[in-house]
Amino acid sequence: MNFADKFIYSSNPLVTRIRNIKFLRNLYLRYFKKFDGKIIIYPTLVCNLNCPYCVNKFHGSIHKFDTLPGEEWVKIINKEQRDVILTGGEPTLHKDFLKIINGINSGINIKLYTNFNWTDEFLKKYIKEIKKPMTFYASYHTSSGNPEKFFHVFDKLRASGKFKGSVHTVCPELGEARRLKRLFAKKGIKLAIDDDQYHMFDGCSKKFKKKVNCAKKVFLIAPDGTRFRCVSYMLRNKQPLEDLKVSRLSNPLFSDTCYEYGYCSPCDLLGEINITELKK
Ligand code: SF4
Ligand code: SF4
Repeated sequence: MNFADKFIYSSNPLVTRIRNIKFLRNLYLRYFKKFDGKIIIYPTLVCNLNCPYCVNKFHGSIHKFDTLPGEEWVKIINKEQRDVILTGGEPTLHKDFLKIINGINSGINIKLYTNFNWTDEFLKKYIKEIKKPMTFYASYHTSSGNPEKFFHVFDKLRASGKFKGSVHTVCPELGEARRLKRLFAKKGIKLAIDDDQYHMFDGCSKKFKKKVNCAKKVFLIAPDGTRFRCVSYMLRNKQPLEDLKVSRLSNPLFSDTCYEYGYCSPCDLLGEINITELKK
C-alpha cells in the first residue's frame, strides 16, 4: 500500500478521527490522492454473497454485461503492461479465473479483492495450479456467516505459501469490530476494520444532485472489456469509453460535466478525483 492507501484504509483510531474531519478529508481527496497507474478490472459483477452495504447495489439493478473469456483478458492485460487490481463482484467466479492469473506476464503485479467464500474444489485447484504470486485484499463479510469457512481458506493458502496480503472487514459497530479483531487474532490474522465508504464520501450521500465538472484519473474496466469514467456510470452502462477488445487505453484523465454528483457510487472515492461545482 502507498501512503495514500494507508491513510484511507487505516483502522488506527487517530487516523480515523483525522479522516472524518470533513475539511481535511476533502483536502486530501482533492490534492493528495494520486492516480496509481493501475488498471482496475471487474472480470465479473456476479457475487456469491449478498452484503447489505454492497456498493454495487447503489443504483438498484446492475447492467448485465457480457463476460470476456480468459484469453481476451490475458491479451488485453499483457498488451497494456500495467499492474492490475481484480475486483467485482467476486472475481474468482469468472470461469477462466485461474487461466487469467497464469497467463498474465510475470512483470505485472496482481492485486485480488476476494471474499474467500471459495468452494473446496476451487481452493484445491488454486493451490495446485496457480503459478504466479499475487497480493490478496481479502474481506471477511458477516453475510457469509461465522468466519470458520474464511479461516479454512486462509489457513490452507497460508500453509501452501500462497497467501500474501491483508485481511479486512466492514464493521461500523465498535463492540462487534473488537470481538472480530480478537477472534481473528486468535488465528494469527491481523484484521483491519474499514469505514463504511458511504460515510466517507459526500458524493454518494443521495442528499443532493449537483452539476459538476468531474475530472477523474482512473482506469476502470467492466466485465466486457469496456472502460468507464467511474463506477457509478459502469454499473449502469452509461457513456462507455474505450473498448479494450479493439483499442488501447488512452489518457487516464477523463474530465467532463456530470449532473449526478451526490449519486456517485461509494467506490468513486477511489482513484484521483477532482470535483468542481458548476452553475446550473
Ligand atoms: S462480497 Fe463484496 S461484491 Fe459481494 S456482495 Fe459483499 S460487498 Fe458486494
Ligand atoms: S457520478 Fe460522481 S464520480 Fe461519476 S462522473 Fe458523476 S460526479 Fe464523477
